[in-house]
Amino acid sequence: MTEHPRIPLAGVIGHPIAHSRSPALHNYWLKRYGLKGHYIPIDIAPVELPELIRSLPRLGFVGLNVTIPHKEAILQIADIVTDRAALIGAANTLIFRKDGKIHADNTDGSGFIANLRQHAPQWAPASGPAVVLGAGGAARAVVAALIEVGVPEIRLANRTRPRADAIRSDFGAKINVHEWVQAGNLLDDAVTVINTTSLGMTGKPDFRVPLDNLNPKALVNDLVYTPLRTQFLIEAEAHGATVVDGLGMLLHQAAPGFERWFGTRPDVDDATRQAVLSL
Ligand code: NAP
Repeated sequence: MTEHPRIPLAGVIGHPIAHSRSPALHNYWLKRYGLKGHYIPIDIAPVELPELIRSLPRLGFVGLNVTIPHKEAILQIADIVTDRAALIGAANTLIFRKDGKIHADNTDGSGFIANLRQHAPQWAPASGPAVVLGAGGAARAVVAALIEVGVPEIRLANRTRPRADAIRSDFGAKINVHEWVQAGNLLDDAVTVINTTSLGMTGKPDFRVPLDNLNPKALVNDLVYTPLRTQFLIEAEAHGATVVDGLGMLLHQAAPGFERWFGTRPDVDDATRQAVLSL
């Protein structure tokens, strides 16, 4: 009997998952490069995660993206965790290896940097302090990436202070933690300002940090990408800052997984952006 090669399957797991743009993105790339493969959204409740993950490779899955609420829990299930995923405390990309082992990585930080480099090539992160607002899972990836590109100081403010203090103790002395109510006072000489909170996202409360002290030479980025132009970015631009939206981070964080699963490094270009936006 002839053995038919299996068509590689990949997907994104979360709970809920219907809102995810990852299927549109990966299926666009599969079509664009004429590759065999499918990418699907999979809703998995937390209690079912360990059992279902182990069954997916047997069905032909070569890997997965991981989103809320599984990004932290997946580290306990994976057999191999990269250093950066361990430091961040979360993974967003899984590779199901041929030897049966599950390899977990975090590409949010590299996606974050690639987005800024692509849309603000003049950005010089090592030239001055960064302000990071928020201290959730995405903030940890952002902080790790900013340290890697040589930011000299990170001013961190979060509504729930202990989460920011935990980042300080995990990432070291470059982090200075400030009270959330002081966030607007941290901006005057900042070269980089990032919103990693979910404030300003459709359906969430507004972002209300005053930007009067914003350095007009700052690069300002919002991780929120629904809406694409958030109130935070609109106000920052009105203060003269260079602004970059969060969609590019989503696109760039996806590229390494796609390459590992389907064998082609995809381009993150305007056509990719339009393909995701039009769905
Ligand atoms: P998370 O771990 O749940 O963290 C949420 C953050 O938002 C925390 O800092 C939280 O503060 C803060 N926050 C929520 N409601 C708030 C409020 N009313 N007032 C002040 N702060 C509030 O989520 P995450 O995974 O870090 O994601 C954060 C955002 O980044 C989400 O909007 C997500 O969609 C976006 N994101 C985008 C990308 C991308 O590719 N562009 C990638 C990852 C994440 P507390 O600690 O006080 O609760």
